[in-house]
Amino acid sequence: MKRLASLIMILLLLTGCAYKKPEPDKATFHTDRMFFELTESGEDAELEIARARELLFRIERGELNGERAQAALDARAEAYEKLNSDAAFAYVRYCLDVTNGENKQRYDALFVSLNMLGSLLVDAALLLSKEPSLADRYDAETVEQLRRQDALNDPAIEPLLKRERTLVGQYEALSESLTVEQNGRRWTGDMILSDPTLTDEEFEMLYESYMTLFNAEAGRIFLELVPVRNAIASALGFGSYAEYAYACYDRDYTPDDAAALSETVREMFAPLLSGMCGEFYAAAARLYGAVFEQGPTMERIREAIVALVPELAEPWDYMVKHQMYDFGSDPKRMPGCFTTYFASYGTPFLFGEWTNGFDAPQAVIHEFGHFAAYWLNAAALQNGVVLDLAEIDSQGLELMSVLLYNSVYGDLSDAAETTELFYALYTLLDGCLEDEFQRFAYGQKSLTLDALNDEYERLSAAYGLDTFGIDPRSWTQIPHTFQQPFYYVSYATSMTAALGLYLLCREDKDTAVRIYRSILMRPENTCFRQTLRSVGLADPFDAERLLETAKKLTALLQNRRNEGADETGNGR
Ligand SMILES: [Zn+2]
Repeated sequence: MKRLASLIMILLLLTGCAYKKPEPDKATFHTDRMFFELTESGEDAELEIARARELLFRIERGELNGERAQAALDARAEAYEKLNSDAAFAYVRYCLDVTNGENKQRYDALFVSLNMLGSLLVDAALLLSKEPSLADRYDAETVEQLRRQDALNDPAIEPLLKRERTLVGQYEALSESLTVEQNGRRWTGDMILSDPTLTDEEFEMLYESYMTLFNAEAGRIFLELVPVRNAIASALGFGSYAEYAYACYDRDYTPDDAAALSETVREMFAPLLSGMCGEFYAAAARLYGAVFEQGPTMERIREAIVALVPELAEPWDYMVKHQMYDFGSDPKRMPGCFTTYFASYGTPFLFGEWTNGFDAPQAVIHEFGHFAAYWLNAAALQNGVVLDLAEIDSQGLELMSVLLYNSVYGDLSDAAETTELFYALYTLLDGCLEDEFQRFAYGQKSLTLDALNDEYERLSAAYGLDTFGIDPRSWTQIPHTFQQPFYYVSYATSMTAALGLYLLCREDKDTAVRIYRSILMRPENTCFRQTLRSVGLADPFDAERLLETAKKLTALLQNRRNEGADETGNGR
């Protein structure tokens, strides 16, 4: 195997912070149209910003108040939602064809405008929340949430946000278009990884020159990004950029908590992962070359997940009927997978990558977990996504469906389960590693590319991931680090819960499914740790409980090993 495949599974967050009026009638609305029939709203972002400014000005001067002011704010919030959908459209279209720069520019511009508009709407809502006649609209929890959102934004940071977006755009352009030349032919990263005709030697040479160049270019961008982001945090009065980023994700734990978690995870789970190394390679070898055709496999996936959680039938059938997914193989497409939401049409969209390999079903099940959550419970995801919970929607479904792998993978289900467990542990460790790496990067007084590469190499060894050939330069290839900083730790926190669901599912499937369902249908504004406690899953920040999970998993892996040894007589 030339490299350890790592799927990019990202939940596209357009804007986490916006004032949104309550719309109970919209909760179950899903457009009847097909994806290709959806169009942009035609709203003008700059005009909307001007209108919102004017509205805020009139409320401040007392020219507009009470229900009339609220109605005007609701109209602006409606336009905000449309523009938000437009941004999601522009992004999806750009990902479908990265050579079309127009969509990219439109997305970048909307990204900055939405931030500005959202901030003006929050300011207006905070003013209105003080009016006694509107007390019904603004309970203590709503006001608290508005205050939290307000603390994340200020007109003063607008130039910094623009600069940040420009640098992120440069990184995105680099990922799509960087090439290296060899023997008169130009190679993109994707071409190098997917050309089966390359000999090992040719691959090594190309890979080496590509990685060196990518690392240098992306590293240069990152070295510019760090001070811009630190300046944003400092302008808003946060002690560190990590604290600001954690607040943007509405986390109910601090970067210090995450540091403690990282240490526990490293101690408890790194030995488990390295212990699985031999089994993983054996399983991957069995799976290598197996072809999973899209049509029939999709039907088998539906059967499995609906047998597990019957409520998933409706969003699945909707997704297929309205073609709210794309697995195209056009070379102009952005590699990777993500799910996003077109709020004004009430539909999610799954941008996938059907590799035909064994990882294709796993990736689709993951993304469909996000799709189903948006479709069934948009309210909980729209008004500030709690990533740590959102990744249980996906990772929880992924791990629970392992129990039904027979119907998806047939004879290969055992090998597929091994890879799934391996990736689960890998994700858990890597989630902590990337967070620790970023805490290092944003916490240094002065930073160089060499220092970053060295630190990444040191951490890879500390987390036991160096065994799998992690390249010390490969941190530059993790898009989250550029696009959505400090996202990764949510993969780790949610993975502990997903592993908890997997272990429970083997003992008591009904209870595990009931818990999964209650997480999927969580009320708005619920926090991560509080939710886990209320459904009876272990809080990963409680080291004792995390140790229980680690012990159960150790016993299970040992059992699987013994069973495998019985089957083959030589402990494969
Ligand atoms: Zn995800």
